[in-house]
Amino acid sequence: MIRINENYRKLQSSYLFSEIGKRVSAFQEANPDREIIKLGIGDVTRPLPEACIRAFHEGVDDLANSPSFKGYGPEQGYPFLREKIATHDFQSRNADIDPSEIFVSDGSKCDTANIQELFATDIKIAIPDPVYPVYLDTNVMAGRTGIYKDGRYGGVVYLPSTAENDFLPDFPEEPVDLIYLCFPNNPTGATITLEALGRWVDFARDNHALILFDAAYESFIRDDSLPHSIYEVEGAKEVAVEFRSFSKTAGFTGTRCAYTVVPKTCRAYDSEGNPHNLNALWNRRHTTKFNGVSYPVQKAAAAVYTPEGQAQTRALIDYYLKNAALIRDRMKSLGFDFIGGENSPYIWINTGKDAWAFFDTLLHKAGVVCTPGPGFGRCGEGYVRISAFNDFEKVELAMDRIREALL
Ligand code: PLP
Repeated sequence: MIRINENYRKLQSSYLFSEIGKRVSAFQEANPDREIIKLGIGDVTRPLPEACIRAFHEGVDDLANSPSFKGYGPEQGYPFLREKIATHDFQSRNADIDPSEIFVSDGSKCDTANIQELFATDIKIAIPDPVYPVYLDTNVMAGRTGIYKDGRYGGVVYLPSTAENDFLPDFPEEPVDLIYLCFPNNPTGATITLEALGRWVDFARDNHALILFDAAYESFIRDDSLPHSIYEVEGAKEVAVEFRSFSKTAGFTGTRCAYTVVPKTCRAYDSEGNPHNLNALWNRRHTTKFNGVSYPVQKAAAAVYTPEGQAQTRALIDYYLKNAALIRDRMKSLGFDFIGGENSPYIWINTGKDAWAFFDTLLHKAGVVCTPGPGFGRCGEGYVRISAFNDFEKVELAMDRIREALL
């Protein structure tokens, strides 16, 4: 008899987005003429930068001609892209990362989801709360948790990120083996300093633990004092894997391209305590289960690193940051406490009431959709996430409507 992976039965249904969808549809049906402005989802709205489009077309043309045709490419990514990533994203910041430590993929969602399979089922995982749900759900699927009760899975070490700790999780009070960190953070928009990140690296080194550092929103960092990569911290190369994505950097959410950095000095241990090279393990996994990102997409991603591509992607992020600044400004004038939106596209707002009640108020009175915080974890109670991914005019209109609705 074919049987299911029983761990899937522990998963909570994707309540958040289905509930948002249900409430928005019901409102739209009752108010067919009302234009709804969505500031809920984390998807980009602006087109790809021109430099990327041009390279994308060139890549397609290469496939149309015999001499430049490409079949299967290297699973880890073409050298032309891996080399550019290593030089521009790391070596330029004194982070000594080699192209052979970079694995190009079709998304950070897949990579942050898949990496856990390199590790034993009985390791202890530490996960921030609130959190990008993929980290948690994939560990549930893999059988690393108990059942779900009162907003928490058994066996997981939760790291609350709240106003009390400035949305920077405290160190776990019990031993942990795998630590998920995400900065600039989704959903809170919080950032981390080099010193604070350094303390996590020290913690991981002292405990033979590994940090999974999700830097999908790195390109939003504008404060020069903030680290862009965990490898700017000395010693991180032994204890950290980093995830980056072109999704938000260059509008690739639909195009799909990302990469994961697994340094050759990174180690994980077998049951006898012998160290194993994580780069080799991930390479084995990647080459067995993945057949590479398409050539035109990698050409388009490489164009991000041309002078033109750099200017255009910066302008793209600046556009969303302008939206974020407007949202911050307006929320401040309404007297809300919030974090994020300065080096991040997300603004995490303390509503002072039930998050779903606030969501309903914005929907019904302003026709604006946000994301209720509890969807990201128990510590999201009372908060909503507003995203800066939309057209400026729409964000402005949404803010006008919110003001009218709340005053
Ligand atoms: N990591 C975080 C924190 C995210 O918020 C997202 C997407 O919203 C991803 C990863 C996924 O990125 P990608 O589009 O590369 O799969």
